[in-house]
Amino acid sequence: MPLELKQSIFGPAGFPLEGPSGPKAMNFLASKGLFAMEYQAVRSVRVSKKVAKELKVAAEENGITLSIHGPYAINLSSEQKSKIRASKSRLLKAATVGSLMGAFHVTFHPGYYGRRTKEETFEIQLTSLKDVLEKLDQKGLKIELGPETTGKDSQFGSLDELLELSSKLPEITITVDFAHIHIREEKSRIKGEDDYRKLLDKIEKNLGKEKMDGLLVHFTEVEPTSKGSGEKKHHPLGSGYGPDFKPLAKIIAENGYKFVIISESPILEKDSVKMKEIYSNFLK
Ligand SMILES: [Zn+2]
Repeated sequence: MPLELKQSIFGPAGFPLEGPSGPKAMNFLASKGLFAMEYQAVRSVRVSKKVAKELKVAAEENGITLSIHGPYAINLSSEQKSKIRASKSRLLKAATVGSLMGAFHVTFHPGYYGRRTKEETFEIQLTSLKDVLEKLDQKGLKIELGPETTGKDSQFGSLDELLELSSKLPEITITVDFAHIHIREEKSRIKGEDDYRKLLDKIEKNLGKEKMDGLLVHFTEVEPTSKGSGEKKHHPLGSGYGPDFKPLAKIIAENGYKFVIISESPILEKDSVKMKEIYSNFLK
């Protein structure tokens, strides 16, 4: 379901740190000018049907667009068949609960290469996702699946891999985590406007214009590990670790992109407010 947004919207990864949790958080976020939130089901999908429905109502009342982050334990290319099966059902469960809360998109980390080659991993991911899409279809669930660009070179999910995946499975879109792209490899560090422009051009060229509307984006500044791949720690905006949000905001505003931008900063919604301010200044 493509979202119909007038402009990019912002919000935290999870309930606000300085506000209420649960349905009440929706009004709090709206009062801060934040109209997005990614519900975190990263340990497990434990929310009851009742709470999910209450969230849906509160989100609708306050004009909040919800997405859901599925469990970290998902590995759709595991070397063990039983683990792939369990991963598919975790993803399906996140999609089911997400639909109940009215979320438009399920974010998830697709999995690992393990001892497989990148090509083998790709094929298995493709097969696993086809299965999940089929089940979603059978259940009549319209929620969008969004494998996320991953931050470690042992994880399947480089931007190129995910774009190829979505070209083979048009029902799928991708979750673009700029911090993960930044720390995945030494050579993938985002240094400024040019790098962002190249990334966004590539995404738009591959996904198509239509899927750029409502593209789910994760953002935080991040410190890489000393090995050069993977994250050591998330940092607030302005920490100096990068990537810098400003040039990204400039391009989003200039190109009229309508993204859903989720803050994964340690100060969550405070940085959402800051990001929105930076972006709004470029809109003027
Ligand atoms: Zn992320």
